[in-house]
Order: sequence, then structure tokens, then C-alpha cells
Amino acid sequence: MASTAGRLAEDTCERDWIWEREIEAAPWEETRRLGAGAWERQFRRIRESSGFYARKWREAGIGSSFVSLGDLSQLPFTTKDELRQALDESPPFGSNLCVAPEQVKRVYQTSGTTGTPSVLALTRGDMESWTTMGTRTYYATGIHEHSSVLTTFGAGPFVAGHTHFVLLRIGTRSVPVAPGDTERVVFGLKAGLADTLLSTASFAQYLANRAERLEKESPSPLQGRGVEGEGRGTGNLTHVVTGGEPGGGIPAIRDHIQRVLGVTVTEVMGIGDVAPSLFGECPHQQGMHYCGAGHVWVELIDPDTHEPMDIETGAVGELVYTTLTREAMPIVRFRGSDIVRIEGTSCECGRTSFRQRVMGRRDDMFIVRGVNVYPAAILSVVGEFRPRVTGRARVVRKSDATSIEPPIPVEVEVTEHHESDPALVADIENAIHARLMFRSRVTLVLESDFGEAGYKTNLSRKDSPHSPKTPLPPGERG
Ligand SMILES: [Zn+2]
Repeated sequence: MASTAGRLAEDTCERDWIWEREIEAAPWEETRRLGAGAWERQFRRIRESSGFYARKWREAGIGSSFVSLGDLSQLPFTTKDELRQALDESPPFGSNLCVAPEQVKRVYQTSGTTGTPSVLALTRGDMESWTTMGTRTYYATGIHEHSSVLTTFGAGPFVAGHTHFVLLRIGTRSVPVAPGDTERVVFGLKAGLADTLLSTASFAQYLANRAERLEKESPSPLQGRGVEGEGRGTGNLTHVVTGGEPGGGIPAIRDHIQRVLGVTVTEVMGIGDVAPSLFGECPHQQGMHYCGAGHVWVELIDPDTHEPMDIETGAVGELVYTTLTREAMPIVRFRGSDIVRIEGTSCECGRTSFRQRVMGRRDDMFIVRGVNVYPAAILSVVGEFRPRVTGRARVVRKSDATSIEPPIPVEVEVTEHHESDPALVADIENAIHARLMFRSRVTLVLESDFGEAGYKTNLSRKDSPHSPKTPLPPGERG
């Protein structure tokens, strides 16, 4: 059985299923030693070249002596706002640029929540470390040299475009499609050009709903086996890798995509300012492996008290990132805002890195009568009402207050003919009450009014007449 331990069911190749076994399957102490060595060099580089961190650490009362990786929690967090200020005070690359401008060889932009783009400069070495982490990540999902991968990630301006270098490194056949070009994705799959699709969970869900609709219109002669290849219009597709939003890790969403499209779903995750791909889920489907050993150090903290937490099975907290090898724009203790659950610290695949699943964004969390709720929990309940609903839903927030008084306003996307269905509203409200212990007020919204299916779905929205529907690209998390 060892030969299939870390592979997808249909993968018969002979290459090792771990890209860098000596690193990815090393004892945790080894990973720690690798990180500590890299941090020593990184700390020196930051001390010598970053005006931004020189001031920040002076203001925080950090002396001139070396702060070891084990004492990292003595250093202050870095926020998105601070990184933006660092750029503004010395454009175009800011006061945190630690190399000569000529050494900057690639520039990505991030889409901030305020709409002002932010700049991310990379040296050749930075690009290489991103490719290394990305290759471990995507290889872990089961994508190998023999895969044909259809991707809708643009080459730029967003960091998700770096995935193209990763696919080249793995040696896959690549089938690029422009972001948002749904018709070409559908054509590419139907024509049998790809066995693997990289997309947001929202888009994979859209494909599954579409396949179900096609099936209803012209039923397949084979009952009880899901929709057959020809009928569901996805050709040779056997594997979907989702990223950019937590959906692929939510059972109600994942199971539906897998069942309808006849595929295996694994997910990946990156953080725009840190690395576009940093976590990848292996075919055992037990959460995403940390794939940044030697390049990015990860801490887990309590989101309320900010105290460090042990990375152990069952722990729930916020991930904090420190780049260990970044040359152009190093980042120390960046709060990623994703609240994750540690699913385990070993795996049948042989990787020794911890596994995690995202519960939601810190900002999306709200509190109902003292209980923390993540909108993803609502998706799990709503998903059970298919095919009347599509599986997408979001919480409407009236203000910035974290504590919300029930009933909680929830918008649920429905398929045609269900936009005014009082029985469905009552059923969903009852299910949310029974499972999540709070009252809700459900509004049904037609697919055409909910926003683009091809992009990531915001799990909450501000209640304003013209709420922004600006989509974030996959791989970009704030
Ligand atoms: Zn694994």
C-alpha cells in the first residue's frame, strides 16, 4: 500500500509523491533548526537594511541584541496598514526595501480592501523561494508532471500569477484561461484538455450546479452514479484544487463538488503579502500541510489575547507569518487574519508538517450572545438545502460591531423558481437555529443578483445600497 499512500486514486506515476522529502518529511526539530538558521541571517539583513523595521523596533523598545526564533514573540506584529505606510513614505518600493532597486526583478500588486493597490517587490531569490514553496504546495495536492492543469489565474498583477512558474517547475501540461472567462473554461474541460482544474471553490461549485442543471434537462441513462462524463460536460476532469477562499474545506461544499463532478477536491492557501502558496492539502484530505519550511516561519496566536499558542491538534487560533529568506521586502510577525484549526501534526502521506483548515477571517467572525460564529458555519447548514439553493450564502453586517443581536440577516443564493419560497426560508431559519443556536432572518437572492460565481464569495457584506462586488483573485487573501 505504501506506493499509493500519498497519491490521487488515478495517479500511477512512479515519482515520489513528496517533492522535497528530505525537508517535508524531516523531524519537526530539523525543520525548526532550518528555520532558526535562516532567521539568524534574515535578522541581520533586516537590522542592516530596513529603515522601516529599525524605527518600528526602536519604538517598541527592542534593544540591539539578537532576538532568536524562539523569542520571536518579543518582536511586535506587523500589520497591513504599516506595510502600506512604509510604501507611501518612500515610493515606489518603500522604507522596507532591503536591496538596491535594480535587484527588484518582479513587482506584483495586492488589492487592498480600500481599493488602493499595494506593491510587492521581489528579487530573483524571492521569486525562487516562492516557486519552491509553491511547488511543494501544489505537488502535495496530487498535481504531478503527467497532470494537465487548467488554470484561470492571470499572469499578473496579482500574486496568484506566480502559480504559472510553479506549474512549469513541476512540469505539468498547462492550459491557461483568462480570469473570469467561464465559457472558455467550460469549453476547455468539455474538449478534454485538462484533468485538473485550479479555481476558487465558488467557481467549482458553479460548475457543479451547472452540471446538475444539464443533467436535469437531459437525464443520463445511468442512475445513481452521479452525472456521467459526457453529461456533466467536464471531460476528463478528475481533480479540482480550490484556493482563495475556505469553501473547498467545508464538507457540504466539497462533498457536493466531488459527487456531482466525479472529482477529488483538495485545497491550497497562500497569503498575498507572504507567499501566494504556502499550504497544500494532500490526497488524504485532512487539511492543508504547511509547505514553507526554511522560508516562512509560522506561529499560532490567540486572536484576542495575542499570546502564542502551541501548534497542536485541535488548537484554534490566528496564524502569524515571518519571512525567513525574503530579500527585497522582509516581513516579521505579519498577522494573516485567518482563524484556523490545527487538524494534526503528522499524516499518512509521510509529511511531518502540521495540517490546518480555515474557519474564517478574523474580520468575518461575529459574536451572538457570547458565542463566536464564523460565516463558514452557515454555509455548512445552507448547503444541505440543495438543489433549491446553490450553496452560496453570506451574512449582512449593519455596522462594524462584532456583537450582533439576533435575528442575524443572512442572504442565501437560490436557483431559478425558488426566489420567493416561504417554506424554504422557514426551513433554513429553523436549521440554523437548531444547529448554530441563534435566530436568523433569511433573504433569498437569485443567482443573477448574488454576484459573479467565477470569483471568490465574500462571506459577509456591509449593508449599503451599492455594496462593492469587486472580486479578489484566487490566492489573494487581503
Ligand atoms: Zn498528508
